[in-house]
Amino acid sequence: MLKTKYKSLLIIIICTIICSIQIISAQQLPLQGTIIMVDAGHGGRDSGTYYGEILEKNLNLEISKKLEEELIQQGAIVYMTRKRDIDLSSIYDSEKKRGDLYRRLLLIKEKNCDLYISIHINWYDDSNLKGAEVLYNPINKDNKVLATSIMKRFRKNLSSNRNIKTTDLYMYRNITTPGVLIECGYLSNSTERKLLQEKDYQQFLAKNITKGIIDYLKKEKRIKNII
Ligand SMILES: [Zn+2]
Repeated sequence: MLKTKYKSLLIIIICTIICSIQIISAQQLPLQGTIIMVDAGHGGRDSGTYYGEILEKNLNLEISKKLEEELIQQGAIVYMTRKRDIDLSSIYDSEKKRGDLYRRLLLIKEKNCDLYISIHINWYDDSNLKGAEVLYNPINKDNKVLATSIMKRFRKNLSSNRNIKTTDLYMYRNITTPGVLIECGYLSNSTERKLLQEKDYQQFLAKNITKGIIDYLKKEKRIKNII
């Protein structure tokens, strides 16, 4: 009888400890409950920029999937505008590119996202130019703060000497949800072209974008200063 009593007590204690650990670990995730749309640029009929057989759309998707992983690990709820090699235009769209961007925009709005991150790769005629950079539209105050936070991480950890820039592209000037366009590096630069294809570098990029997002949310006082 006594043994059964002790057994029950022990089970209750163990359950309480497990529950407490789960609650503590859930509370410590800095992006807990933040809804983020990861937008892998281009796709399907639209390859984006390219170098031989290296297509921007494929690199964008690889980096975006790693970013999805990193954000989920930090507690975010993540949606993707695409998870495979497709574009979002409809057969009825007379302008395919516009249709594709319009549906990305709708997805961000429909999912009630707190923020979105578009992933792209750059190209420039001068092959010396390199470095990850962040572009934003000044449609709201948040975009510049988010861009600055991510850019700081790129400058510090990826040795990028680029700066934030504004963009007036259709998609970004038509969405009030906070978000930025990230150009992860230049396919036209041989060193960066090699790096952008490496899984470890892609993961490192994703980690730094995630850290930049956390920095931004801390600045906005939307999350506690816990890491
Ligand atoms: Zn692009």
